[in-house]
Amino acid sequence: MSIIEKDKKYIAGTYNRFPVEIVSGKGSLVYDTDGKEYIDMGSGIGVTSFGIGDDIWKDAVIAQLDKVQHMSNLYYTEPCAELAEKLCQKTGMKKVFFSNSGAEANECAIKVARKYAAEKKGTEYSTIITLKNSFHGRTLTTLAATGQEHYHELFQPLTPGFIHVESGNIEELKSAVANNKVAALLIECIQGEGGVIPVDPAYAKAAYELCKENDILFMVDEVQTGNGRTGKLYAYMNYEVQPDVVSTAKGLAGGLPLGATLLGEKVENVLGFGDHGSTFGGNPIACAAANSIIARIDDKLLAEVNKKAEYIRNTVSGKPGVEAVSGLGLMVGIKTTKPGADVVKACMEKGVLCLTAKDKVRLLPALNIPQEVLEKAIEILLECCA
Ligand code: PLP
Repeated sequence: MSIIEKDKKYIAGTYNRFPVEIVSGKGSLVYDTDGKEYIDMGSGIGVTSFGIGDDIWKDAVIAQLDKVQHMSNLYYTEPCAELAEKLCQKTGMKKVFFSNSGAEANECAIKVARKYAAEKKGTEYSTIITLKNSFHGRTLTTLAATGQEHYHELFQPLTPGFIHVESGNIEELKSAVANNKVAALLIECIQGEGGVIPVDPAYAKAAYELCKENDILFMVDEVQTGNGRTGKLYAYMNYEVQPDVVSTAKGLAGGLPLGATLLGEKVENVLGFGDHGSTFGGNPIACAAANSIIARIDDKLLAEVNKKAEYIRNTVSGKPGVEAVSGLGLMVGIKTTKPGADVVKACMEKGVLCLTAKDKVRLLPALNIPQEVLEKAIEILLECCA
């Protein structure tokens, strides 16, 4: 059996994979079994922040592999403490809980919100408000948080206590706050899976102020937008808000599983012994990888991200077959005249791997994609859009 046949026979059919087996790569180039080269404009859905097999990242991982690959959370290890310090120093947040994925980072955020509200106002203050069209993960609780009905249908009953409001409609949010016992608001600054749709800055600010006035936690899901993706370390830094909780994962460890829930001053001590845990959370190799990633997301790199983002927007906007461009930094949504999925398929045939988000083409290239590689990818993409 070929790998594709084995995969189809033995792996649960949750992924509609392209008929391509990737076997190697370097930076923003990957290769299939026939040696065909592809420019990777998706970076594993925003995970390989510095591309495939990046040397600095690899050195950090190998150095830690030579020390200790795992210890239980009953003991101290250096990489996770160093990473937590870096994340707090760079964001002003106070403490971090480490897990292994975006969904788990959000689960932790939701537990923090429920416990904070339960202790401060009473256990009935358990409602979490999220936005319609949002995406927060695939566990039963983060599915409940996800504001897209079609994900919910066959998995009832989901965790209760979630309501979804229209992004941009502050009156609806005010009414939801007035009519429910609310613990937190959880938003994505840019809805990724929902179609690369940024939240309106005035709405984000008004929502943040409303949360502050009502002692409701303002929580930002930075699973996809975090770690340099939008041209700032975290996307909320593009907005006039200071979240109480930030969840992140994907690009944090550059290709190893790691989730982090950053806790602000209000909630830094909400979780106590035994309130939460994860066997693999804070794994030394994942954290060593993340230390190397976070250390490199400095002003110089972010300036490069913004320059490349501007290049993409300027080059793509107004071209034949391109109707609109959305997003921030290297998180780009392109509304094409042809169905986005058809454009992505054509790009793949011509050696460029792109993503979709709803009906759009979505680009999440490595933060350090070389300019000439980016230019070639955009040229092919535009050919496929026309
Ligand atoms: N939150 C957002 C905004 C995401 O984009 C995703 C994944 O796409 C998740 C949460 C879930 O992350 P994971 O697949 O790592 O559980």
